[in-house]
Amino acid sequence: MTSNSEVKRIGIMGGTFDPLHYGHLVAAEMARNEFRLEKVIFIPTGNPPHKMGREITNPEARFQMVKLATEDNLSFGVSRIEIERIGHSYTVDTLRELHQLYPEHEIYFITGSDAFREIFTWKDFESALELCHFIGASRPGFDAEEFMQDLQAAHPEFFTRMHLLEVPALAISSTDIRSRVRKNQPIRYLLPEAVRLYIERESLYQNIL
Ligand code: NAP
Repeated sequence: MTSNSEVKRIGIMGGTFDPLHYGHLVAAEMARNEFRLEKVIFIPTGNPPHKMGREITNPEARFQMVKLATEDNLSFGVSRIEIERIGHSYTVDTLRELHQLYPEHEIYFITGSDAFREIFTWKDFESALELCHFIGASRPGFDAEEFMQDLQAAHPEFFTRMHLLEVPALAISSTDIRSRVRKNQPIRYLLPEAVRLYIERESLYQNIL
């Protein structure tokens, strides 16, 4: 019989990554270590249903930036599963596909604590929570204790499958990077140099916030 400690775990890093920065990389690495994940696969969003208002950089460019940032780490990978999906992309559909691909693994879905806070509004969140554990990577200033108390009161049935991870490096944000580029301010050292050069070469974020 297999004991629980022998169950293999895989991390899935879900995000728009517009652009990917060091905060995301540190969060993935901390989660990998803390939750003993075999590897972490980054999955850039395709056509997110909750982002109807803002113009998002095309999926292929966001995929390329994630690829450039992760290719030197054998414990990291990147998947096209969401960017190739036609129509709106929901996490529950991704989790179902991953469950088929990794039937032997426990799935840990890592995302930002702001997105994590909204999980109970996601499509079919009950099924999503049956398919994986969620890790919310929190920025400095996020009131983790209050959030977990509210969560326990409102959804005790899911409490053991939701985890918070404080990531000081998440003081870096994609919104700030886009704004800096637009204002012609430096972004070096906030993200991998290959990603910075890609942004420069493709003239990304000149007009969008
Ligand atoms: P977002 O609204 O762009 O980001 C929310 C916040 O979380 C931002 O502050 C963002 O910081 C941070 N963040 C996002 N991904 C992160 C990550 N992997 N690690 C650390 N911080 C992260 O959220 P999003 O990127 O669109 O969505 C996050 C994930 O949740 C995606 O996989 C998305 O598909 C999923 N989601 C699913 C549904 C659904 O199925 N209905 C609805 C909403 C979200 P930065 O801007 O610096 O990244």
